[in-house]
Amino acid sequence: MSMPPPEQPSCAADEPEAAAARAVGEKDAARAVGEKAAARAVGEADAARAVGEASASDVRGVDHARIERAVREILLAVGENPDREGLLQTPARVARMYAEMFSGLHQDPRVHLRTAFTEKYDEVVLVRDIAFHSVCEHHLLPFMGRAHIGYIPDGRVLGLSKLARIVDVVSRRPQVQERLTETIAELLVEQLGAKGVAVVVEAVHTCMTIRGVRKPGSECVTSAMKGLFRSNVSSRAEVLSLIYGRRTT
Ligand SMILES: [Zn+2]
Repeated sequence: MSMPPPEQPSCAADEPEAAAARAVGEKDAARAVGEKAAARAVGEADAARAVGEASASDVRGVDHARIERAVREILLAVGENPDREGLLQTPARVARMYAEMFSGLHQDPRVHLRTAFTEKYDEVVLVRDIAFHSVCEHHLLPFMGRAHIGYIPDGRVLGLSKLARIVDVVSRRPQVQERLTETIAELLVEQLGAKGVAVVVEAVHTCMTIRGVRKPGSECVTSAMKGLFRSNVSSRAEVLSLIYGRRTT
C-alpha cells in the first residue's frame, strides 16, 4: 500500500468530537454534494451567470450586521474596549472577512463541472499544488496548504483551471480537511463520471500550530481514492508518483 500516511492527526484529533467527525465524514461529504438540489435545476445560462456573479453572491446570504454585533460581544467578553480607536472598525472588517472566507457556502461547485468536454483521452490527468485556504470548523482558525487532484477520464475531461475553481468553492466554507478531500473526490466521480479519482490534500492547521498542542511545521495529509485508483494498485502508485515525484520542496 503506497498511500501517504497521515503524518499528523487532523486538527482536532486530540478532542473527543474528532473521532465522531471523522466517522460521519463520508456522510457529510455526500450531503455536501447532495445539497442545494434547487441549484442543480438551473440551466447552463444560469450557471454561467452564477459564475460571473460570484463576487456579488459572496455578499448575499451573509448577515454583516449580525457578525458585527457578535464580534463586538467577543471583544467585550475578552475584556477589550470595542470603542477604542483601533477597534472601532474591527467588527465591520471581520464581517467582510467572513463573507469572503465563507463565500463557498453560497456557491455550487458543480457549476464548474458543467463545462466538461468530450475528449478521447483515458490516461491520468493531474493538477498538483493547487494552493488553498480554508477555515477549520472546530476553532474557526485558518488551515492552508495544497491540493493535488488526479483523475482518469471516461470520455469527458475538464478544463484544468476548473479543478482549482472547485477547490476554491469547497475550501471557502467552515471545513475539516477530511471532508474537503472527500467532497472534491465525490464531485469528480458523480459529476464527471471519471473512471478513477485521486485527491491528496496537505495542509498546515493553525489551530495545531499556534494553540493547543502548538506543533509548528506539522502537516496533515488526507487522501481520497476512488474507482481505479482504489481498486488498482499500479494506477494508484502511478498517480502518487506523479504527485510526489520531482518534488523540489
Ligand atoms: Zn481546528
